[in-house]
Amino acid sequence: MQRPGEFSVTVTKDYLVFASAHFITFAGHRCEALHGHNYRARVTLDGRLDEESWFVFDFVELKHLMRHLCDEIDHKVLLPLENPKIQIVEDGEAVKVAYEGKPRYVFPRSDCALLPVTNTTVEMLAELLTRRLRCELEAGGRAKGLTAIEMEVEENFGQSAFYRLRLA
Ligand SMILES: [Zn+2]
Repeated sequence: MQRPGEFSVTVTKDYLVFASAHFITFAGHRCEALHGHNYRARVTLDGRLDEESWFVFDFVELKHLMRHLCDEIDHKVLLPLENPKIQIVEDGEAVKVAYEGKPRYVFPRSDCALLPVTNTTVEMLAELLTRRLRCELEAGGRAKGLTAIEMEVEENFGQSAFYRLRLA
């Protein structure tokens, strides 16, 4: 059956909170002090209806996948591995962080999430969660029929970034 409209499913952010510490760098030589946020994520999947179940994607499975991705960075210090101004060195049980060559922090390794991002802005976190979700969906053979992933990450009430990825 042909339908003129399009479907999507959303898992709301209240379910998907991660409380994490971070600091970001700005243009020039400015770097924030370490601080934390109760981040909240929201994801939307666009796609075709599954013609047997008449849904785009199983909510229970989507919540489970997203909860797993949030748990990976919950209660961690989020550190960007690809920021040219920040040097991150793993030393045994510790992670040493320098900013522009000057030592700044030492954290227990188990308290850190070393992330493949250039800065831990909500934009970059939204992109990272989208990439991770896409990997999980594809690994489980569950991306079939999906046309886009949209991720929102909120760091303060009413202050969030979106990333939208079209799938083939
Ligand atoms: Zn912040």
